[in-house]
Amino acid sequence: MEWLYCDFHIHTTWSDGSLTLKEVVELYGQSGFDVIAITDHLLDSNSQRQKIERSGRHFGIGAERYAEYRRELWKAARYAWETYNMLLLPGIELTNNTGKYHILALDNKEIVNPDLDVEEILREITQQGAVSVACHPFVRNHSGESPSEYLWSNMDRFATMFDAWEVANRDDLFNIIGLKKFHYVANSDFHEKRHLHSWKTLLRCAKNTEAVKEAIRKNDAVSIFLYRGGKIQ
Ligand code: ZN
Ligand code: ZN
Repeated sequence: MEWLYCDFHIHTTWSDGSLTLKEVVELYGQSGFDVIAITDHLLDSNSQRQKIERSGRHFGIGAERYAEYRRELWKAARYAWETYNMLLLPGIELTNNTGKYHILALDNKEIVNPDLDVEEILREITQQGAVSVACHPFVRNHSGESPSEYLWSNMDRFATMFDAWEVANRDDLFNIIGLKKFHYVANSDFHEKRHLHSWKTLLRCAKNTEAVKEAIRKNDAVSIFLYRGGKIQ
């Protein structure tokens, strides 16, 4: 079986990414990737309120635009498959900046409320047949921030509750995930074109949604690589 080149953490103009969904599909498709997940931000309501007070603007997808977001993702998934033989998984990044945790839901079927506590979110993700990923669980060099501080300080409690943890996010490696033998993936946390050159995941499985999710959950045929450009053959 072949190794699939994957990136499970990508933002578009649906939240704070600089490329449209279409541009993201063209970029990854032309580079030869096999699997991508689109994971735009869904922000907790307290942080959303603060954003609106500060900037007068709503941030991220928002519950009222979620159905439209999903329709656009399905359209893009079909285009990606027909044009590039690339699998596109719908997803979201549950962005709780109040409690300080960011969680990816991959192939979720419905919206998940980012106000819920971590256990409830993980239960909901599992019930939807989706995959959960703990995002950037430590301080990131590029921002100096630790937006998932809560996951970091409760790491042992949440260890096996997540399907996987990010062992790498863009240019950063989180050694502790390897040391603790947690299930892992590596993602770009793509927001702009230069972020394509970053840590990614390799999975050995069939190229379909269920097989990819199962491979992340089992986590025994997974590897990471640092993509530096050029067409993947
Ligand atoms: Zn994040
Ligand atoms: Zn992100």
